[in-house]
Amino acid sequence: MEIFFLGTNASTPHKYRFLPSIVVRRKGKLFMFDCGEGTQYRFLRSGLGVNKDMKIFITHMHGDHYFGLPGLIQTFALLGRTKPLHIFGPRTLGDVLKNFLEKTGVRISYSLHFTPVEEGVIIEEKEYRIKAFLTSHTITNFAYIIEEKDRPGRFNRKKAEKLGIPRGRLWKKLQQGYPVKTLSGRIVRPEEVLGPPREGIKFVYSGDTRYSEKLIEFSQKADILIHDSTFENKLRDNAIDSGHSTASEAAEVARKARVRFLFLFHYSSRYSEDLINLLREAREIFHRAFLSTDGMNIEIKKPDSNKVILLFRKLKF
Ligand SMILES: [Zn+2]
Ligand SMILES: [Zn+2]
Repeated sequence: MEIFFLGTNASTPHKYRFLPSIVVRRKGKLFMFDCGEGTQYRFLRSGLGVNKDMKIFITHMHGDHYFGLPGLIQTFALLGRTKPLHIFGPRTLGDVLKNFLEKTGVRISYSLHFTPVEEGVIIEEKEYRIKAFLTSHTITNFAYIIEEKDRPGRFNRKKAEKLGIPRGRLWKKLQQGYPVKTLSGRIVRPEEVLGPPREGIKFVYSGDTRYSEKLIEFSQKADILIHDSTFENKLRDNAIDSGHSTASEAAEVARKARVRFLFLFHYSSRYSEDLINLLREAREIFHRAFLSTDGMNIEIKKPDSNKVILLFRKLKF
């Protein structure tokens, strides 16, 4: 799994930061979370590809999180997208998109689908599921989770050979979790040749939110939590008034949810390029906290359930 931070600022565009948008790439498929104004530019510059299998998830109806959609939809058409595009979000987003398409007469070269989101599982696939749940903002805001399902444990070839199981069909059956019979008549159970099941990656994106107990509950043991961190501690009152979180509150959620890595996100425009105070305040509470930045690309590897490796790269926009 890879994460691309296309924009990390709150409310208005900033000299150093675009409006919120994150793309997760998994086995060639793209999952975009929020689409602030200007996202199409960052998306194209990232080389993510305009004709990929792609789904877009919008957290809420504040403009900084979805005003980039019309431009992105039109640009995809102009650049010849043919694959369907699925958008998920609050019900009113469906009306806005319908209006935009009808009133502007923009011609789309691909099929565009909209699904209103409700709490619970919104996508269930063989290898992963995507869930949504409500957080605590000034308007309805959905946080999203990508949850990879556990994979079977590693197959121990040497052991299988030692037990006299011929390579091929019987190996495959064991890998799929079925017992098999060797030539000598011995029954071999899958757990004899498979290691412990390997946990999948759990990714959580909060969207805009106040400190939320529910977020703690839903983020339990997530590998990655991307959390609203609009303000530093001394502006906690502003956070309360505007339905946002401080970096410390994001860290508190991460600590209580026992997540592996926290990425601070959605910074107030009052902050310059230097966000060190936010990071410092977060790390006082949760030391595996990082600042997300525009252009940050992270590859996440989980070779076994106890180990998560992050590889950081920087995209040139
Ligand atoms: Zn926002
Ligand atoms: Zn908002």
